[in-house]
Amino acid sequence: MTVNIHDLLEKVEKRLYIDGEWRAGSTGETFDVENPATGEIIATMASATSDDALAALDAADRAQREWARTSPRSRSDILRRGFDLVAARAEEFATLMTVEMGKPISEARSEVTYGNEYLRWFSEETVRHYGRFTTVPEGTLRMITTHKPVGPCLLITPWNFPLAMATRKVAPAIAAGCTMVLKPAKLTPLTVQYFAQTMIEAGVPSGVLNVVSSKSASSISSPLIADTRLRKVSFTGSTPVGRQLMKEAADNVLRTSMELGGNAPFIVFADADLDAAVDGAIAAKMRNIGEACTAANRIIVQESVVDEFATKLTEKISALKVGPGMDESTQVGPLVEAKAIDHMEALVADAVSRGARVLTGGERVGERGHFFAPTVLTDVSRDARVATEEIFGPIAPILTFTDEDDAWELANTTEYGLASYVFTSDTSRLFRASDNLEFGLVGFNSGVISNAAAPFGGVKQSGLGREGGAEGIEEYSTLQYIGVANPY
Ligand code: NAD
Repeated sequence: MTVNIHDLLEKVEKRLYIDGEWRAGSTGETFDVENPATGEIIATMASATSDDALAALDAADRAQREWARTSPRSRSDILRRGFDLVAARAEEFATLMTVEMGKPISEARSEVTYGNEYLRWFSEETVRHYGRFTTVPEGTLRMITTHKPVGPCLLITPWNFPLAMATRKVAPAIAAGCTMVLKPAKLTPLTVQYFAQTMIEAGVPSGVLNVVSSKSASSISSPLIADTRLRKVSFTGSTPVGRQLMKEAADNVLRTSMELGGNAPFIVFADADLDAAVDGAIAAKMRNIGEACTAANRIIVQESVVDEFATKLTEKISALKVGPGMDESTQVGPLVEAKAIDHMEALVADAVSRGARVLTGGERVGERGHFFAPTVLTDVSRDARVATEEIFGPIAPILTFTDEDDAWELANTTEYGLASYVFTSDTSRLFRASDNLEFGLVGFNSGVISNAAAPFGGVKQSGLGREGGAEGIEEYSTLQYIGVANPY
């Protein structure tokens, strides 16, 4: 299916969605959305204010009681219809993500498939959210546990996976019976707007899903978090913003789910299949232009094979085609905004000043758009910024380790704990990797492990809570225990 971008952009709502109505923001303010491949403005969005955010919470709060009473099957059917509609519009969603965020169209298509799986998965989970029934050990009470929706939720999503980060929150919230105020990232609101339009068509009732894009994120989040009608905030984004939201959430002892930043180690043992490890490293590093929380941030290679690994990796990375995401042959698109290029340049300069060598790339590409060459750095010191900070771009820094214990120790030397990867042919390392790596996710001989059926989330300063899997619905549920006097 060929998509006419102009017609598609016309079709996407640019207004706020509050209480079942599309409306302009209360002050009429707007903000622009840019195509990072060209710098061109592709849409002008209504910008929500604090008043709009509170109107959205009013609607969510009013809708909550009735929504909680709907049958699991009816919520499941809405999710399933949403899944079918997103699948039918897959090319439109992929195009929107590429033009507003920059990712190659082939990857945008994969994100539609991946992101849409959360709708299908939670449509299935909705009707199988079981409680328990038993008699307490003393025999005095019958014990029932039941799940209840946590209540109105604030969902805040980032720009790097515009569809999947929204479906990963909206689908379990619908499954559990929660109402929502959804705030997309201001760099990529179009995908979320179109997703909301699609879910409304799928049958989400008025007030249940409200969407408030804004040029000022905190003017939405702060008043909502301070309002006792809000019962939960689920945030995906950077660790500093997550920390700030947790501080604000403390005042009302608000439930929080925090999917924050990462600094993933990608560990290659000398006994690994090096070609498979190189392919895994490219998938884990270059997917989404390196702008992924799961991106391989530090490629940690056993000393005896580092030269061979670096040569193979450089050969493949230097051959990757950089270009606008809408070109079918593009493998690495533009970074999302101009300041990301300055960040990449500063990281490379810092690594080089501490002894690293640039094997390929290391600089911006072209004058137009925000392109940065896929880069391999070797001899990277353990205290270089590329090793200690989240890179969020196409730079692959190679560090070395001596033995297994050194690998685990180096891997864990970070405040983050989201994804980690291990490549080895010695499968006895699996449980030692699991025991030793302080990360929520471990890829074992695989560079891509996200899946709707798996619990996704971090430890340490990568966050709290899990999205997806059987666990995802629990984030939107509270457990009630009912003790019933035994009739005997
Ligand atoms: P960000 O923290 O700048 O923004 C994320 C969201 O928070 C956006 O909607 C933004 O508008 C909003 N926001 C920004 N400042 C805010 C404030 N002061 N108060 C309230 N909301 C605010 O992050 P980003 O640049 O959009 O995304 C990249 C980050 O997200 C990276 O750190 C990445 O690792 C992380 N991420 C994590 C996961 C995960 O599942 N763990 C997934 C994707 C991205």
